[in-house]
Amino acid sequence: MRFARWLVAAAFFTSVQAQAETTPPKLVVVISVDQFSSDLFSEWRGKFTGGMKRLTQGVVFPGGYQSHAATETCPGHSTITSGVHPARSGIAANDWFGMRGAKFDEIYCVEDESVPGSTHDDYTVSLKHLGPDWQTLGDRLKAQPGSQTRVFAVSGKDRGATLLAGRNADQTWWYDWRAKGFTTYVGADTSSVAQSVPALAGVNARIAQWMAKPSIPPLPAQCLAKLSPIAVGKLTVGDGPEDGPRTDKPDNTAKDFRTTRAIDIATLDIAESMVAANKLGQKAGTDVLAISLSATDYIGHSYGTEGPEMCGQMVSLDTRLGQFFAALDKQKIDYVVALSADHGGFDAPERHADHAYPAAGRATLTLAAPVLSQILARQFGWQGSLIENRALGGDYWFTPNVPVERRAEAAAYLKTVLESQYQGKIAAVFTKADLAPLPVPSGNPALWTLAQRVRASFVAERSGDIYVVLPHGQQPMPAGVKGYVATHGSAWDYDRRVPILFWRKGLTAFEQPQPVETVDILPTLASLIGLPIAPGSVDGRCLDLDAGSASTCK
Ligand SMILES: [Zn+2]
Repeated sequence: MRFARWLVAAAFFTSVQAQAETTPPKLVVVISVDQFSSDLFSEWRGKFTGGMKRLTQGVVFPGGYQSHAATETCPGHSTITSGVHPARSGIAANDWFGMRGAKFDEIYCVEDESVPGSTHDDYTVSLKHLGPDWQTLGDRLKAQPGSQTRVFAVSGKDRGATLLAGRNADQTWWYDWRAKGFTTYVGADTSSVAQSVPALAGVNARIAQWMAKPSIPPLPAQCLAKLSPIAVGKLTVGDGPEDGPRTDKPDNTAKDFRTTRAIDIATLDIAESMVAANKLGQKAGTDVLAISLSATDYIGHSYGTEGPEMCGQMVSLDTRLGQFFAALDKQKIDYVVALSADHGGFDAPERHADHAYPAAGRATLTLAAPVLSQILARQFGWQGSLIENRALGGDYWFTPNVPVERRAEAAAYLKTVLESQYQGKIAAVFTKADLAPLPVPSGNPALWTLAQRVRASFVAERSGDIYVVLPHGQQPMPAGVKGYVATHGSAWDYDRRVPILFWRKGLTAFEQPQPVETVDILPTLASLIGLPIAPGSVDGRCLDLDAGSASTCK
């Protein structure tokens, strides 16, 4: 009798489990925490008590990979809901050099540079640079016959929202310092926004109040032990919470709002209101809510990853995410969460030196574009600026002053000079001729060569003429400046490794520490929803989220 009752209970338990894993979820919540590295996750996972803690109790891949070398916001976000590497999405970097009309200029990943009067800093947001193979989860669901899917997105950055949402989202909102609040595409129909994003007006009013009288909340008590001032050049970081506005110019105050815990709270306020107002996850189809949380990235750049400032951000993010999930629970929505990051990060080298990693440092100014330009000028006799770059190392682009028919020769010469004269200052140099013939890599991303990593974000018409990999731990800026003491963007694992976390009510927890990729997220979610994915149309694979012998991959 007792045994029989146990059997019945076991059978019931199994059926609940099976149902959770076989019926499609009604709402897919995709979250990107900008710059949330596997290193930050491993430091914090045991300390979370809110929303992040819940996710650590689902299916945990602590070592996911943004597998490519261009570990920046745009390439990274272009992989998460599309399942394709940047080489295929077309997003080679955050910015690349190309022609803006008659001008050789920096082009931003989500701008339409053909809009008259546009500049690199004053641009019109557009997805025109994305290739035909780039199809987001939302766009794929909406393309299904009879689809009733709705897609909503919000972020602290335009690239965070647009690249997760896709081309056909119902509402895509992001913070824009020029607008001094959350905004959307130029020309988008916003006539019903008061109904579909009711929190928007209140959030923007709150931001306007902050700009009129900026304030930063005190550090949570558990962050006080992190107080330890570090000199970064003339700056000091690590001496308190984030420090708010840097000047009294309104434009700067609007920019500085991004580097506060408050921007993630504002983003989640808007996301929560999108769910409630539109009854996301409570209608006929499977809906998508894409959220990219930017504060971790801005705070990481401004103060590094290991100080009290990041501690305050982790505590705040965890708390607000917990409230967000509780709000979804209250509405009895059957939702699945996939949380990852667009790239990892690295602490300020000055603190690394204090924290037992003195190999961290900053790249040499002899890698600046004018120096490399002179090397070419001396050899080939060409006049004017010959090379542009965005940071020390990474992509270097030849300007129109380098004759097209001699570019391969010039790149090969520069590579020879760098390899012979920059020993210890660089790890590797690749030319377009090196990269173009390589297949886009697959298999275990931890084992990829440097050339394979660079190839995974190589786009022939946008990538630099040469690509320089800096030595491990070398930051691509010569000195720390206000708002920018640490960064990411390298081909090394501290920038490539990000957690990938899945959570759904009833999903049996397990952990898989071996490498998986952010391009696996789309096929994994698609299989859960029952959305067919044409073979070969993505670079990732379905991750089986069933802890036992059954499979969520069809
Ligand atoms: Zn960043």
